[in-house]
Amino acid sequence: MALDPIARLTVLFARLPGVGEKTAQRLAFHVLKSPPEYARDLAEALLALRLEVRLCSICCNLTAQDPCPICADPQRDTKMICVVESVPDLLAIERTREFRGRYHVLHGALSPLDGVGPDQLKIKELLPRLTGVEEVIVATDPTVEGEATALYLTRLVKPLGVRITRIAQGVPMGGDLEYADQVTLARAIQGRREL
Ligand SMILES: [Zn+2]
Repeated sequence: MALDPIARLTVLFARLPGVGEKTAQRLAFHVLKSPPEYARDLAEALLALRLEVRLCSICCNLTAQDPCPICADPQRDTKMICVVESVPDLLAIERTREFRGRYHVLHGALSPLDGVGPDQLKIKELLPRLTGVEEVIVATDPTVEGEATALYLTRLVKPLGVRITRIAQGVPMGGDLEYADQVTLARAIQGRREL
């Protein structure tokens, strides 16, 4: 027998990160008590998320339109590419308004122990983009994995004659760019160094 609708939604909510059984049940009742349009909007937003959001064919950003709004923006400097691990990191850098070039999202960092090698990341998608590019700024996290990724990218990019820089420390070691405050992150971009 199928679960009743409250139990069904509770089970689904409980699968979200950080949501326990009790919270899941409270959320389900909240949806039940809200106007019917809310439930419909929620259901439609969930579907749209899965059906419409995909990777930008240029920079691998998540987007509902391809190319993404950043790649499609003629005002952005096409001579600079900032390489980030994740979309939240891209958004953190965008919030600083310090960078007006384009991005490349790797969707992770090298971590051989976890089985993440270059082929698991969007690295091969970066190479065809380098024609005409003057500088690649590596803004991976200041972690062991982020540093290993920066080193790997340097070996790949530098022989092509493209300048490659690394954002400055100031983002604390072991930290995540996504959570760095805007001023720290803006300074880290300004103070980038040659690799
Ligand atoms: Zn894009």
